[in-house]
Amino acid sequence: MSYDNDNIFAKILRGEAPAFKVHEDAQTLAFMDLMPQVPGHTLVIPKYPAQDLFDVDAATLGDTIQVVQTVGAAVKQAFQAPGIMIAQLSGAAAGQTVFHIHFHILPRFEGLEFKLHARQVEAAEVLAAHAERIRSCLAQGQAGKPADSGTPGP
Ligand code: 5GP
Repeated sequence: MSYDNDNIFAKILRGEAPAFKVHEDAQTLAFMDLMPQVPGHTLVIPKYPAQDLFDVDAATLGDTIQVVQTVGAAVKQAFQAPGIMIAQLSGAAAGQTVFHIHFHILPRFEGLEFKLHARQVEAAEVLAAHAERIRSCLAQGQAGKPADSGTPGP
């Protein structure tokens, strides 16, 4: 199977589909998951076309991992989460549903389960508010540098 240029994340990257963005730079984009498993569920993707973990050059992936760490810290702070779970699903059998490589960032609390994967669309105002909280924590962490908020969509 080759990379499908019409997958939803490719459309978000081209600005053809909306997303509640929390961070964007030349190589990566981070935005709210439309069907969060927990409040604050955030996705980080590289901008280059790659289907999954086995379709990327590991050295290039460093930029994305750096953003996973930075945004992960902001999500942790924004949701006062004692733990953060990072998930990367490669292949349909693993549950992958969007075939543009991505890392899930999930705030976790002891004893609190998360919802089923990609089932329930969250209200736009909730996603917008969560994105704003994360952007604000990112901005604090950047010592005065403005966070790239992107354009939140519906
Ligand atoms: P995967 O199953 O491939 O690991 O994860 C895909 C994720 O993308 C799921 O958690 C799902 O909720 C999320 N998702 C699916 N469609 C959209 C969309 O249009 N916008 C956003 N922001 N997330 C999406």
